[in-house]
Amino acid sequence: MTDASDIPVRVRPEVAALPPYKQGRQAGPDAFKLSSNENPFDPLPGVLERVRDAAAFNRYPDASAARLRARLAERFGVTDDGVHVGAGSVSILAQLIQATAGPGDEVVYAWRSFEAYPWLAVVAGATAVQVPLAPGARHDLDAMAGAITERTRAIIVCTPNNPTGPIVTQAEFDAFVSRVPADVLVILDEAYSEFVTDPDAVNGLREPGGHPRPNVVVLRTFSKAFGLAGLRVGYAIGHPRVLDAARSTAIPLSVTAQAEVAALASLDAEPELLERVRVIAQRRDALVAALRDEGWDVPEAQGNFVWLPAGAETLDIAERFVEAGLVVRPFAGDGIRISVGEHESVDKVLRIAASVVKTLPEGHQGRAASVEK
Ligand code: PMP
Repeated sequence: MTDASDIPVRVRPEVAALPPYKQGRQAGPDAFKLSSNENPFDPLPGVLERVRDAAAFNRYPDASAARLRARLAERFGVTDDGVHVGAGSVSILAQLIQATAGPGDEVVYAWRSFEAYPWLAVVAGATAVQVPLAPGARHDLDAMAGAITERTRAIIVCTPNNPTGPIVTQAEFDAFVSRVPADVLVILDEAYSEFVTDPDAVNGLREPGGHPRPNVVVLRTFSKAFGLAGLRVGYAIGHPRVLDAARSTAIPLSVTAQAEVAALASLDAEPELLERVRVIAQRRDALVAALRDEGWDVPEAQGNFVWLPAGAETLDIAERFVEAGLVVRPFAGDGIRISVGEHESVDKVLRIAASVVKTLPEGHQGRAASVEK
């Protein structure tokens, strides 16, 4: 946090008060970086080649990413203007919030969830309304519906929820959106959807033609399952006029030609990439089962990460992982998110986790009730 009086120009006080975005820690050469939910696999050679051969650096990209939009439109059975591409799905989130919510307006989301949400709401000048997660670290959609007021302009539903892991079911989501006023935007953030194996999970793009409700925008990304986090490319599927509003707030030309080509090449290589996703999901399930065997009370994990509810011990426990060469993501006072990384990282994670869980006091939130002392 910066003291506004230290800044030589007048800055909006809510912006001066914001902590800067904190990225997952970088890892040393011998450490595993399990702090940013990245894909541990190297890019496919074919994708790399296509990026290398992509448009020259001295030319601007196509501002509308038309080729990628057309490809995604075909795939999801929508018109090209029902697709919007951004420099990462986080930039589309920012655009949607800026387009809908300003001073005096409210943005509702679950908490704890993706750490960018509060920051994006504040930067837009809006008020963040955080609805605590229900037991099991799941969205409490009843409470979220109850938090809607006349000032609510946007609601974000994150499924699977980063950083805790559980999904929202299709039935829960359908019941929820039927309670949201038709003129309030619902952003369904499905950044991790490709890792989901629970058949009951919501899928905002299940039906061709996009989500049937015009106030629902579905967000996806190439950063996670497709392993393009470094190139920054994500997309939204929604009502063309809603997406036009997002496009109006976008910084022009921020999706590079290389990112667009990489996304297209990744769609061509989708079966191979989804095979890797399957491997990560299996690794995740094995990790969760083993952590539970150790005595950790791990919530359902449907993304490419697991959550240790470490409570007040979070920072100390995270340090134990870091000392062992495992860079994890602590959320002080709450818990630790560990990305499902390289195969070789799993045993190491389990070893540290096993030694730590024994030190947790009886009744600690991180310990499953059934564990013997
Ligand atoms: N939504 C969620 C829930 C995320 O966890 C992330 C990345 N951590 C994003 C959106 C943004 O991803 P990107 O901008 O790389 O597409």
